[in-house]
Amino acid sequence: MQNINVSEIFGSNVFNDTVMRERLSEQVYADFRRCIDEGAELSKDTANAVASAMKDWAIEKGVTHYSHWFQPLTGVTAEKHDSFISAPDAHGKVIMEFKGKELIKGEPDASSFPSGGLRSTFEARGYTAWDYTSPAFIKEDAAGAILCIPTAFCSYTGEALDKKTPLLRSMEAIDKQSLRILRLFGNTTSKKVTPSVGPEQEYFIVDKKKYLQRKDLVFTGRTLFGAMPPKGQEMEDHYFGSIRERIGAFMKEVNVELWKMGVTAKTQHNEAAPAQHELAPIYAKANVAVDNNQLVIEVLKKVADRHGLTCLLHEKPFAGVNGSGKHNNWSLTTDDGINLLEPGKTPHENIQFLLVLTCIMRAVDRHAALLRESAADVGNEHRLGAAEAPPAIISMFLGEQLEDVIWQLVNTGSATSSTQGGKLRIGGNLPAFSKDATDRNRTSPFAFTGNKFEFRMVGSADSVASANIVLNAIVAEVFCETADILEKADNLDLAIHDIIKKYAVEHQRIIFNGNGYSEEWVKEAERRGLPNLKSMVDAIPALVAEDTVALFEKFSIFTRTELESRAEIQYEAYAKATNIEALTMIDMARKQIIPAVVRYITVLADSYNSVKNTGLNLDSSAQEEMLTEVSKLLGETKRALKVLEDEAYAVKKIENMELRARTYLEKVMPAMAALRAPVDKLEMLVDKSMWPMPSYGDLIFEV
Ligand code: ADP
Ligand code: MG
Repeated sequence: MQNINVSEIFGSNVFNDTVMRERLSEQVYADFRRCIDEGAELSKDTANAVASAMKDWAIEKGVTHYSHWFQPLTGVTAEKHDSFISAPDAHGKVIMEFKGKELIKGEPDASSFPSGGLRSTFEARGYTAWDYTSPAFIKEDAAGAILCIPTAFCSYTGEALDKKTPLLRSMEAIDKQSLRILRLFGNTTSKKVTPSVGPEQEYFIVDKKKYLQRKDLVFTGRTLFGAMPPKGQEMEDHYFGSIRERIGAFMKEVNVELWKMGVTAKTQHNEAAPAQHELAPIYAKANVAVDNNQLVIEVLKKVADRHGLTCLLHEKPFAGVNGSGKHNNWSLTTDDGINLLEPGKTPHENIQFLLVLTCIMRAVDRHAALLRESAADVGNEHRLGAAEAPPAIISMFLGEQLEDVIWQLVNTGSATSSTQGGKLRIGGNLPAFSKDATDRNRTSPFAFTGNKFEFRMVGSADSVASANIVLNAIVAEVFCETADILEKADNLDLAIHDIIKKYAVEHQRIIFNGNGYSEEWVKEAERRGLPNLKSMVDAIPALVAEDTVALFEKFSIFTRTELESRAEIQYEAYAKATNIEALTMIDMARKQIIPAVVRYITVLADSYNSVKNTGLNLDSSAQEEMLTEVSKLLGETKRALKVLEDEAYAVKKIENMELRARTYLEKVMPAMAALRAPVDKLEMLVDKSMWPMPSYGDLIFEV
């Protein structure tokens, strides 16, 4: 196998700092760097010079087209390719050109992207605007090499039509408000605070040929029928197990593709469920991390396909088997390398950290429903609260050490000690190593993990943009109100002390260090008044709640209209996806499952008759019992199918999108479950060679 020179290929397809240094004049480089680092305005001359250098660099790498790469509200990325060629001159010759204005702005037709009523089709104009803080890169595949320019996407009237625009706005807000907090503690040198994000991506890999035999996987991304195999994940032999060769070859190619585009794919391992895996990059600035995660998703799918495999990004492809999420690691970092979430060895003395921590407690408690909503996508519906992923209730895990500090604050008004980790002795000749002051908790949706928070609710198919928009915004809001008070305080030390205590007392209910999957927690959370929004349909209203609107309008992240349109898009997404699921089930039941069962019944009946007709008075009770059972389940299936057909038909008459989504949740979903139940039982009874599709066992144990 060919050796890979990682340092040579890493970033080889990125217009990064090294390339800019080489190709831009000193003046242009300095100007452009200032725009990237400090958000200075980009001049026309600089834009032209950068565009020209970018074009030359790209052409040398075999690029023929460029694309404004953006993230509309469909959940995937969009691109429209334009070639570099100019109009032919009088001699029929073309030149390759790329101007600053083409780099800065694009005008894709916006009418076919969801806007939730923001604009009617006759106002189809949309703009893409270059996000020069996320580097341009070259994407190579069978279609050739394309220069991709990360952009934000908005309407003619300036409303955001994508996930990037509000993300950038939220980053601006948290930057400004964090600096105010830092200044209170005498920091005069940090110039910028950026949210750092490291999203861990989980996914399933199945054999492509088998995948194609399952209409449910093809049309909806998840199995809508399927009995559990005799062996599930109970042996726990897959997690961190050695990686099979076929998967290994796939992962290797994924890494190379990602590294070329400057994505720092770092960790790969098997996950809890059979056929489930994870890929984590090294954390980056929030907007870059969001862009990179979209690339990870794209590359996983593309490379899997090349290897005769299919990558399933759905949050719950197999009922009863672990689902997939995207752990969103989040912290706040200054331009001079300070992490605001670093507690140090003695957090009780680290007043700045305690203030930041209690502000985050306040933010998460106040906007728990909104944070939960930020992880709402159709597939995640089946994962959240399903006894393996985080529950749908937002709580915060701090670990023993910090919980103890908070406890001291709440009970005595000040914290005077921090429990320490000590040494861990393993025995034998192994050296003792110092252990963390805190163990991990895998059941918490929002866990403090040393120097960052890990928000575990986000779904594997979803963009991490929404979660980070919300995190940045809710924390910015509390930082802002806190700075408003503290900047006016006569005795700053005392005021800080009081506010830390106040926040700790007021928001201690959000702290939970126990088992988040347990039934007791559900009750306890209810007693504490924490919202438990099980369905996406229940969570969407948080997007347009008055405190949400006030929050986002305060920092110009979303207008009320933008929020209303996003809620509408969410309802519609839920309704559409569930409709496709219902229709797929109907189709499979009618055309594949029922005919197969009918054939099997004929086989059973023939056998029964043959045995009877021998005249030997043989025992035919087995055939009789099987025939009875299978026929009974077939009848149940047929009746459940009729109910589902009726419900799926009725719901389409509902005009109001919210009501329609709710009806899918309350009527269609149960009808789907009622159809699945007898079919899964039948799968266990019918001759395997007659069952019309690969089973769970075939899919997850034989890759
Ligand atoms: P795990 O949570 O599985 O033990 P790690 O803690 O090593 O794994 O990191 C998980 C992810 O968190 C990685 O993408 C990593 O880069 C990211 N990460 C690490 N430190 C930070 C930080 N300070 N801020 C944001 N993300 C971080
Ligand atoms: Mg993790």
